[in-house]
Amino acid sequence: MKYISTRMNIEAVDSAAAVNHGMVPGGGLFVPEAIPEVSREFLTNLKDMSYEDISIEILKLYFTDYSPKELKGYVRSAYSSDKFSSSLKTPVVKLEDDLYIAELWHGPTGAFKDMALQIMPRIFSGAKKKLNIREDSLILVATSGDTGKAALEGFKDIEGIKMAVFYPSDGVSQIQRLQMETTIGSNVIVSSVDGNFDDCQTEVKNLFKDSDFIKSLEGINISSANSINLARLIPQIIYYFASYAQLADDLAPDEKVDFSVPTGNFGNILAGYYAKKMGLPIDRLICSSNTNNILHDFISTGVYDTNRQFHKTMSPSMDILVSSNLERFLYHLSCDKKEVSELYSSLDINKVFNIEGSLLDSLKENIFSSWIDEKKCLNIIKDVYDKYGYPIDPHTAIALGGAADYKKNKTIVMSTASIYKFPSTIVKGIYGEEMDELSSLEVLKNDLIINIPDCIEAIKGLNPTDINKISSSEMKNFIRTFIKS
Ligand SMILES: *Cc1c(COP(=O)(O)O)cnc(C)c1O
Repeated sequence: MKYISTRMNIEAVDSAAAVNHGMVPGGGLFVPEAIPEVSREFLTNLKDMSYEDISIEILKLYFTDYSPKELKGYVRSAYSSDKFSSSLKTPVVKLEDDLYIAELWHGPTGAFKDMALQIMPRIFSGAKKKLNIREDSLILVATSGDTGKAALEGFKDIEGIKMAVFYPSDGVSQIQRLQMETTIGSNVIVSSVDGNFDDCQTEVKNLFKDSDFIKSLEGINISSANSINLARLIPQIIYYFASYAQLADDLAPDEKVDFSVPTGNFGNILAGYYAKKMGLPIDRLICSSNTNNILHDFISTGVYDTNRQFHKTMSPSMDILVSSNLERFLYHLSCDKKEVSELYSSLDINKVFNIEGSLLDSLKENIFSSWIDEKKCLNIIKDVYDKYGYPIDPHTAIALGGAADYKKNKTIVMSTASIYKFPSTIVKGIYGEEMDELSSLEVLKNDLIINIPDCIEAIKGLNPTDINKISSSEMKNFIRTFIKS
């Protein structure tokens, strides 16, 4: 399998090279030349396969320059039972007839990002070996909260790699911040940045294009762990298959389902689209947004307009205006690099682009979109708890809201975070009370009898004044100082 750019600027490369680059040098994202299809036999056997078995079959189709033995080794260590609190990895819970929740947060940091970030460092190190790269790598991460911690856990203490994580100073929850700031690893550094997630992400993207900056790193090769990296995107396809497989007893052969996905950078839902193209019986993907509903407007009208107010919401991991992976989706729908290049240069220059005609039609054919405001999000948390005794986090609430707005087939709601990451919001939703996060955590522990995992217990002693805060223009120097240390 070869990988090409969504724009017109690079020759096709093997997966190892694409993984090592992160994004296409000069702009654009790597996509597979063609999305591979799974065999009939694989789909028939799916319900009897373990998460690990499914992983290997999916990864083999994309990482064709890796040996099956290498991939097996990565899968075995990434999804080991000491890291995941469920042997199914992504267990599916039935809420009622036709409505299911896939819990994607049983990994070490409590967010679905673990599903990809546990295996990505292994794929990345493998790529460096294949390419004979001996220099250290610097991984830059901009995070709206959950990626940061999951990336830190995945990459800490991995030889030959340094990692710098940046998060918006006011854009993450107290628990998310403390989780990141308590990572122990000799090769990682974390800082908050003045501004919102887009400011962070934009500066990271600029650094990739900044040849003077890259030169000043003296041979260190820079890459990314954001969902623009293929080694993030591809492993996310696995849990669509693994979740579908768990519904087997309730489904007629080949019966189609819908997935509702709480969407930010469009990585999760894009993996769902890949699963569909590969042959998994998916009818439509439901793109659920919070008050930052730029994707809903885009899917409704064809106009993607980032000239708008940014809202801080209770679902911070979805507080995004520029959804990077949308570029890949538009490429797959249009198969037209020229068109994609034009759209994204318009976005660069005017902060807006628009699509129409058959491209907009096929977008709507694949995706139903919906958005949920803050009040409704809290109501959903309360209703679901009252009705089913099942507590959900605010991101999952948004996806449930989207599912309720559509309701055509059996629907699997992607639950992307564990409730202990957003305890204040859960307490506010269920009890209507305002409380700080650490006290809320105690309430959840006592009332809902949830076990607080060690990784959350560990944050309690941190002194929040130790936290770095810089402006986005200081990121360059911050990184250089870290590299030299
Ligand atoms: C990252 C994240 C999302 C958004 O996923 P994308 O792949 O960026 O669309 C949703 N919910 C949670 C909890 C997340 O951490």
